[in-house]
Amino acid sequence: MNNRNRNAAISAVAQQEQPQCKHCQSEDVRVISETQYNFFLSTLPVLVAIIFMFTVHLAFFFLIPFVLHFNGRIAAKKSPLIVCRSCKSSEIHKQG
Ligand SMILES: [Zn+2]
Repeated sequence: MNNRNRNAAISAVAQQEQPQCKHCQSEDVRVISETQYNFFLSTLPVLVAIIFMFTVHLAFFFLIPFVLHFNGRIAAKKSPLIVCRSCKSSEIHKQG
């Protein structure tokens, strides 16, 4: 019984270390992955391109893959991004 409890405690510690804010050392942070960041960047421009496609010209459709590609490159550079819920700061988290 004791042994099992100890193992549970060890495995809890061995879990991946919780990223924390560098400004206020808070662990109440949100990690934004590359995919999430790309989605966040792309939603608005893709929506605008679709609206323009129907209202202005169908050629705006070709803007969509360009936007996705461009934002993908930005997202790869800026992610994973750590956003602190305590002090509202955000920073790029690069390992190594
Ligand atoms: Zn913070």
